[in-house]
Amino acid sequence: MARGYDFKEIEEKWQRCWEEKKQFKVAEDPSQPKYYLLEMYPYPSGKIHMGHVRNYSIGDVVARYKRMRGCNVLHPMGWDAFGLPAENAALENNIHPAIWTQENISYMRKQLKRMGFSYDWDREIASCDSGYYKWNQWFFLKMYEQGLAYKKGSFVNWCDSCQTVLANEQVEGGFCWRCETPVRQKELEQWFLRITKYSEELLQGLDSLPGWPERVKVMQRNWIGKSEGVEIRFPLADSGESIYAFTTRADTLFGATFLLLAPEHPMVQRLSEAGPEAKFVKEFVERMSRADKIVRTALETEKEGCFTGSYAMNPLTKEKIPIWVANYVLLEYGTGAIMGVPAHDQRDLEFARKYALPVRIVIVGPEGTLNERDLTEPYVDEGSLVNSGPFAGLPSDQARDSIAEYLEREGYGKRRVAFRLRDWGISRQRYWGTPIPIIYCDRCGAVPVPYEDLPVVLPSDVRIEGKGESPLRKVESFVNVTCPRCSGPGRRETDTMDTFVDSSWYFLRFLSPHDDGAPVGKGAARYWMPVDQYIGGIEHAVLHLLYARFFTKFIRDLKIIEADEPFTNLLTQGMVIKDGAKMSKSKGNVVDPDELLDRYGADTARLFSLFASPPEKDLDWSDQGVDGSFRFLNRVWKLIEKHLPAMRPFDREPRFEDLTVGKDLLRLTHQTIKRVTFDIEDEFHFNTAISALMELVNEVSRFDSTASADEAGEDERLRVLKKALETILLLLSPFAPHICEELWERLGHPNSIFEESWPSFEEKVIAEESILIVVQIDGRVRHRIHTAASSTEGEIKAAALSNERVQSLLRGEKVKRIVLVPNKLINIVLQ
Ligand SMILES: [Zn+2]
Ligand SMILES: [Zn+2]
Repeated sequence: MARGYDFKEIEEKWQRCWEEKKQFKVAEDPSQPKYYLLEMYPYPSGKIHMGHVRNYSIGDVVARYKRMRGCNVLHPMGWDAFGLPAENAALENNIHPAIWTQENISYMRKQLKRMGFSYDWDREIASCDSGYYKWNQWFFLKMYEQGLAYKKGSFVNWCDSCQTVLANEQVEGGFCWRCETPVRQKELEQWFLRITKYSEELLQGLDSLPGWPERVKVMQRNWIGKSEGVEIRFPLADSGESIYAFTTRADTLFGATFLLLAPEHPMVQRLSEAGPEAKFVKEFVERMSRADKIVRTALETEKEGCFTGSYAMNPLTKEKIPIWVANYVLLEYGTGAIMGVPAHDQRDLEFARKYALPVRIVIVGPEGTLNERDLTEPYVDEGSLVNSGPFAGLPSDQARDSIAEYLEREGYGKRRVAFRLRDWGISRQRYWGTPIPIIYCDRCGAVPVPYEDLPVVLPSDVRIEGKGESPLRKVESFVNVTCPRCSGPGRRETDTMDTFVDSSWYFLRFLSPHDDGAPVGKGAARYWMPVDQYIGGIEHAVLHLLYARFFTKFIRDLKIIEADEPFTNLLTQGMVIKDGAKMSKSKGNVVDPDELLDRYGADTARLFSLFASPPEKDLDWSDQGVDGSFRFLNRVWKLIEKHLPAMRPFDREPRFEDLTVGKDLLRLTHQTIKRVTFDIEDEFHFNTAISALMELVNEVSRFDSTASADEAGEDERLRVLKKALETILLLLSPFAPHICEELWERLGHPNSIFEESWPSFEEKVIAEESILIVVQIDGRVRHRIHTAASSTEGEIKAAALSNERVQSLLRGEKVKRIVLVPNKLINIVLQ
């Protein structure tokens, strides 16, 4: 009768069943609360890795749990299918990027299905489909109309290896985020999206996201980098012109003893041309134009500069101060000029010491003043003002206000808010991406492709040659077109979009993936948005997660959606670690999910990846851990198989108050429901939820398997047992869905376990405190039993005597009397 746990057969059976029934297909249903659950869609690199297994297992538990809680759950999956690896593969293996991508998608789709993830596959999307990227182009044109997409020449981050531009967000410590090649600066005409229009809202919106990890919000706040200060006007000594410099520390203005300009500052040449400094300045500027900006401005780089020969006036001290050019000032940030306050800024102090410029202390801390000549470390904190004329004695914060007021009144400045956030450069000189829908005409200039001509389809007849210019430039049938405005000859833009454009709104496309008339249906968006729970890696804290917020606000302003923010709750899962390092090919510590599935099945793979650590922490791979999860599922299998013959339908659940046997098991059953429910609800503590389930399984295994003497007692005993077994399956089903479906069916249920409600618990059963009673036989400790604190003397005696272990110890001998010490022990005295 009893059969072993054949995971292969069971998993195939239920995957087929779910697929045929379209069990996880959803539609808008206003009568049900909606729950939109989304994991970051994968890049189709070839095969899924353990990080995917973990990420998607976390999501799937939540999806299945929420359905059982009565939610209408949208859980879609798709492919982030554009990007450079497809082009690299094309080069290496002589395969077209489209074919490579499609093959990978079909293999990975099969793998995800093998994991038993509960997706609504009818909503599957791939960003490389023209039906998808058409809407990238549509959004681009909408932005273009509003001046939010624009082209300008600028210095860009360039990766020589990837042969493409990188956004600031894609440069990590001076290196390409993708291939770790040092990034250099190159001047290029580029398309930008004006994300800075939303700087303030992107910053403020973070306060409305209590469901986001603080760490991610801090990273975004810093990236947006709002600062409030004054833009100060420094009049030139010899002309009517002025130089403007932004500072957040107007309280230190009396200590500004020089001005510094970026080498690219447009006034540098003019300021120096009359004097003998011209030659040195010119050389310095040329040398800086070749230097890497990130290296040039790094904290540890030696400060360098060159005197221009000109002077400006400090508007507070009215002194003439020299104007220098310096390597550590950038044109892109602020005004391209800064005031040098060496006593209160590290870099300015280094610069001043190198070139013997005056240092003046104007802020002192509680320790008092230092000698300016001996100053080796600047005092950068707030304090109170000294050497500052009428402002001396004021604390920093008051001084900032008073000085700003004075500067505004006298026409030397304006209070301003500055942001660190720059516009998003989206031009990529690559093939495998969304074509930018612009046509250049000699007569009309840049002309947007008319909406009715979308999509601008990426041509397939292309030669990928790696280095050099964009492959699209060589496709004449693509490039040469007629101008939509004057019908003259035109040339298409050959840059494609950064693939982060694709992922900035894909969560909306899932809502109406087959809609040809709009990027997203308004009704669908009103019902499903925002995403209730988003799950993905912390590495997207400032890239994808900021762009997605920007696109959401823009699409809201187009009146297509109403949501202000895309993701209400965000979970950033940890990495999968093996032998102390992140799994990677180069370290040789990769575990292939296929092998895991062959050997143990999907339920074990899921259970292990959820049990080994809480989702936000790193998961340390352990073969024993996998084995342990497998053994646990086997125990559950055997336990249910063992009790199957005795199971029959009952008209009602066991009534706790009436029970003479099984009170402890029923209590633990309720306690487990409560624990698992709260563990899932409270930040997805799946590991402790699974431990609780393991305890319940242990307890059921220990539960007295002998039949009660009378029929009524036996009936109650089986009720309790059945309740416990069914509860185990219901609670375990989101984690290990296949085995639970199978055993649920074997227990005689005609419907899928995922059509059942999540079990509920009763506080009054849980509240019953359980106490440990020592069982003695003839004065010797032989056993221990748990009973409810409220148990009567008779109940405790009955519980002890009916205990399986105690009965075997008594070996049928006659009991003379029983001595009970309340809440402590029971002594069975034999004749
Ligand atoms: Zn690179
Ligand atoms: Zn034209």
